This record gives sequence, structure tokens and C-alpha cells, in this order.
Amino acid sequence: MKFEDLKIIEPIMKALQHKGYSQPTPIQAKAIPHILNRKDVLGCAQTGTGKTAAFAIPIIQLIHNIEKNADKPVLRSLIVTPTRELAIQIDENIQAYSKNTNIKHAVIFGGVKQGQQVSQLKKGVHILVATPGRLLDLIQQGFISLNHIKIFVLDEADRMLDMGFINDIRKLLKLLPEQRQSLFFSATMPKNIIDLSSTILKNPVKVEVAAISSTAETITQYLYYTNRTDKNKLLLHIINKHQIDQVLIFVRTKHGADRIFRFLQKNNIKSASIHGDRAQNQRQKALSDFKAKNITALVATDIAARGIDIEKLTYTINLDVPNLPETYVHRIGRAGRAGEDGVAISICEPEENSYIKDIQKLIGKKITVIDDNPFPQTEKPMTEAEKKEWNKEKQRRKQEFFANRKAKKTGGQQSKKDRPKGNKGKNKSDSNSNKIEKSPTSEKRDFNKSKPKKSKAPSFNQRKEKQGNSEKPAGKKRRSNTSMRKKLPPKLGEKYMWPLE
Ligand code: AMP
Repeated sequence: MKFEDLKIIEPIMKALQHKGYSQPTPIQAKAIPHILNRKDVLGCAQTGTGKTAAFAIPIIQLIHNIEKNADKPVLRSLIVTPTRELAIQIDENIQAYSKNTNIKHAVIFGGVKQGQQVSQLKKGVHILVATPGRLLDLIQQGFISLNHIKIFVLDEADRMLDMGFINDIRKLLKLLPEQRQSLFFSATMPKNIIDLSSTILKNPVKVEVAAISSTAETITQYLYYTNRTDKNKLLLHIINKHQIDQVLIFVRTKHGADRIFRFLQKNNIKSASIHGDRAQNQRQKALSDFKAKNITALVATDIAARGIDIEKLTYTINLDVPNLPETYVHRIGRAGRAGEDGVAISICEPEENSYIKDIQKLIGKKITVIDDNPFPQTEKPMTEAEKKEWNKEKQRRKQEFFANRKAKKTGGQQSKKDRPKGNKGKNKSDSNSNKIEKSPTSEKRDFNKSKPKKSKAPSFNQRKEKQGNSEKPAGKKRRSNTSMRKKLPPKLGEKYMWPLE
């Protein structure tokens, strides 16, 4: 099939040629005709399939046809997506596809001052790409009206729910006109997503391009089994041995991302880290340096696992194997985009062996294990008792670390009066830095500016509850480091790195 067969108008055709798109991808071939026919669409497609163009091209075409002769642009289409990076990327695509038309578009997201976004909105736009928090914020302030929206897109719906945006979406749906066309995209279609879609769509056409939760076929997957303490050395070995010049490395925590970043820098591998505690401009810089190949490695939490499009990225490495198999699928989907070849390497420590089983079950195939490994796995997963002890100890150390730091900062006199003003956010984000990063919480925080900042990221305790690991709340008494070390079974003390060391 060709784009001509989809009845794409000349100005867009030219832009597509300029982008080097010779023919539509399967999701584009399936979705574009329905969208141009003003049908609601329920699309199941993972990122990397050309999903953005599948909705952006027909939206631009429809609005171009309606608004050709209008004076001031009226907001006709709203595209809501979960992360700032994704929002920026969608807007960049809209810019590329609409450059030969008069379509005006803008992107809004939290974590930055609103001034520039507001002044763009005041000039008038046809298409707005937004993350939920900033969108609701600016609607509340009266800078955006949704009264004339004709086409509403909810992108990455499953990720939206994972990130706790469900209430924001519900609020938003109340503000949209009843009479509208809606497009709903999700990489996976579990029951809660289907339920949500049924509250948004009317008689939708279902468009699916890959089996649910399948991994792109162009990605070759490899697995190294190792010990926890050898992970960094093995990472270095893999990068050097294969002379990898661009790699996206996934880790579980923000603190872990910074630690690996420092480790790589020390070993002469130019790197950057990207996670929810970094300022928006730092995140953007890290990403653009990575895309421009100014750095070799980008160390990321799962904030970067979805939707981020790095052209011609070949390698992803899971330095922490994710406990949710779907997360694995999203992470490795960053490489091998749009039919290019990709390689996904996972480095698995004993505690993560069971995650590999879940992943293989989901993707329906075995991952090739690399035996040529100078740091093979020789240790066994912890027993339940050891795990419990380790978790307890970790919690205690964490508390002690922050207590010590607080005492240092205030010279031991932490009275309310003495506390420096205006650094609450900093302390909070620091204290979150060791948590598993599930969502860019700052986006949520931004909307709740006036409220005390509370992290939505799951605590260690919440995670352990999920794993069936009961643990008492952190103890009141603080012990010294040495006394704690004595209490810990010596084997464990040697075997595992502590999160704050
Ligand atoms: P997406 O799934 O929307 O994130 O797109 C993934 C990548 O595919 C992006 O780099 C797009 O520029 C590229 N892409 C989208 N449509 C096409 C096409 N028809 N031909 C070639 N590349 C495309």
C-alpha cells in the first residue's frame, strides 16, 4: 500500500516524502482511513510501529480541511499522553507532518514555568498535545477551552493508568464536548483498559497491529546470568567487548541511575542519567545529547521506557530486570524501531531469576542465554528469611542515612525555625531517590502545586506487600551502622550492595 492510496493531501504527502516515509506502516494503513471517515478508533499498538503518524496525519488533514479559511485558530484536537518526553515527541512529529499547512500546534507539560506555553495558547492553536496535570491546571486557570474539540486522542492509555492518572482523565472527559471523535491507543489491552475505552469511544473500529504484549520481531534478545555484585563489571565488559557506541541502560531506581551514571563516567564511558528527580531541562539535555550521539550511554528509570523514540538505537540493556513483564516489553521496544534491527540485553542477578520466567511466559519465547560470560551467576536467590532480614536492614540504613544527612545539614539542631526555607521539594525528592520509579511524579506534583508534595511512587513496603513479604514499619530506635552490620548475617553483608552505599 502507498500513502496515495490513503488519500493523503498533497501538503502532507510532501512532508512525508521529506521525512523519508515511502509507505505506510501497518497501523497507519489500518487506522488512517477510519480516522478520515470520522470513526472512533480503539488502537492496540506498541510504540515503534508508527502509531503517532497513524493519528497525527489524519488529524492534520481533517483540521486543515475545516480550518483552511478561518481567521484565528480554534482548538480542534487534543492529544493527551502520559509523559513530557512523549508529549514533546508527538508535537515534533506534528510539526514535521504539518509543515506545509497552516496548522498551529503547541505542547504543554509540567515541570517548567507555564509562561511560554500560555503565550503560545493565547495566539491560538488547532492541535494541543498535553500531559494531564498541566492540561487541567491551565484549563482551571482559564487559558484553555475544550468547547470546540472535534478530535480527542488518549495515547498510551495503559501507561496513564499505571501512572495513576485515572482521576485526571475522568475530570478531563467531563470537560470534553459530547459530540466528538475519539481515538484511544494502548500498547496492552487488559480489562481495565477496555473498560476505560468503553467510557470514551462510541462504536469504535478496532485496529490492532501486534499481538497483545508481543515484542517487536526485529529485536534480538540476550540474557546474562550474574551475581548482584558483578553487574557493573559485566555491564562494562559488554559495552567494551561489543564496542557499543549508543546504549540505553534501564535501572529500577533514580538513585541507581545516578550511581551507574557515575560508574560509567569514571570508566571513561560518556553518559547521562534521566529520571523523575532531574529537572525538565536536564532531562531534555540528556535525551538530546543521547540522540545526537554526544554521549554513549543514557541511564534511565522506567520514565524513559515508553514511547521515547531514538532513531536507529540498536542496544538496550536491562541492568535491573523489571518485575513486571510488560515493562520489559516497553523497555526493549526503545531499540529496533520502525523495522530497524535491535538488540536487548538483560543482566540478571539471582533475585531476578523468577522475573525472567514471567517475561518469557509473556513474550512466548526463551531468551538466548550467553554462556561466554566472565562473571557467571554462582549465587542462589535469598531464602525468605534472608530476604526479610535484608529488607529490614535496608530500611534501617535508609532511615539512618537521611537522619545523619539532616543532622549534618542543620548542624544537629533541626528546629522548625532553623530549617532553611524553600528547599522542601529538594529534600523530598532526595528522600524519594531510592524508590522504584514508576511515574514522572513531578508532572502530578505540578498540578497539585498548592498541596504538600507527596510522592505517588510505591514505597519499598508497598512493593514488598505485593511480594507477600510482611515487614513491620521502620523501628523507632536508631542504631549505629556497626551494630547493624553485626546483626546482619555475614554472608548477606558481603553478598549484597546496600542501596545507599
Ligand atoms: P512511533 O511508533 O509513532 O513512535 O514511530 C516510530 C518511528 O517510526 C518514528 O521514528 C517515526 O518517525 C517512524 N515512522 C513512522 N511512520 C513511518 C513510515 N511510514 N515509514 C518510515 N518510518 C516511519
